[in-house]
Amino acid sequence: MDLELTDKVALVAGGSSGIGRAIATVLSEEGCKVAILARTASNLKDTARQINTATGNMVISVKCDVTSKRQIESAVRKVTNKLGPIDILVCNAGGPPSGIFEQFGDGDWDIAYQLNLKSTIRLCMQVVPSMKERRWGRIINITSVAAQQPIDNLILSNTARAGVHGFTKTLANEIAPFGVTVNCICPGYTATERLQELAQQISKSTGVSPKKVRAGWEKNIPAGRLAEPRELGYLAAYLASDKAGYLTGVAINLDGGFVKSI
Ligand code: NAD
Repeated sequence: MDLELTDKVALVAGGSSGIGRAIATVLSEEGCKVAILARTASNLKDTARQINTATGNMVISVKCDVTSKRQIESAVRKVTNKLGPIDILVCNAGGPPSGIFEQFGDGDWDIAYQLNLKSTIRLCMQVVPSMKERRWGRIINITSVAAQQPIDNLILSNTARAGVHGFTKTLANEIAPFGVTVNCICPGYTATERLQELAQQISKSTGVSPKKVRAGWEKNIPAGRLAEPRELGYLAAYLASDKAGYLTGVAINLDGGFVKSI
């Protein structure tokens, strides 16, 4: 199936590693002109260079902390000046810290809100008017299975991501008549470096080996394994394509069957 993504302009936030990097890579393989955003310029530049070497297509990087309104506005301006108006927006960033309700104070909630919900809203504010005007656009919000089935010890994530789902569904209904779709991808446990680090941290605090920590996660996944980051990339590329024009306002779990509800 040809996804017909050649020369579409894609902005992938949190694109220097993990799921964001994999999505940026697959979109670049499909012919998009890709801009990746993250906070650390050196990592970003290396990632952009590596994706460009692998695919031969244009990849640029823009340093941007997505918790900053000013930096988001400036980054979107830079991307638009260099590549043209944004056709595909992927809202992604790191996750908030783990912990239970009584561990967190007022400021922790603000940070989680800024990182996972407000960043999505602000990025959309920058691209939606142009997408509506051009009567074509694709917005893909990366959340988590935690928004579908809250995960113990992740109260900040469970709460902020559910907000993204409400925002996505409402915005999707408002802008569907303009040919713009808005959807969420909810990753389950995905084999990124971040997850490997988490296994190491759990191992240090519990004495259980990282291999056993991973096996514990896999035991709760009907598919019996973690997701590969590229699998998220394939789904994002489909959602970004013209072929997915009738698919909007949904949250798709890519989780090997982890979420138990129907
Ligand atoms: P990751 O830490 O590997 O990647 C996060 C990316 O976001 C990096 O490029 C990082 O530099 C960037 N980033 C972080 N904070 C930022 C900020 N303030 N401004 C700009 N960029 C920022 O994480 P990942 O495993 O790829 O996960 C991506 C998202 O998916 C996260 O929100 C995570 O919570 C969620 N998720 C991951 C998993 C998993 O198993 N890996 C499962 C469910 C949900």
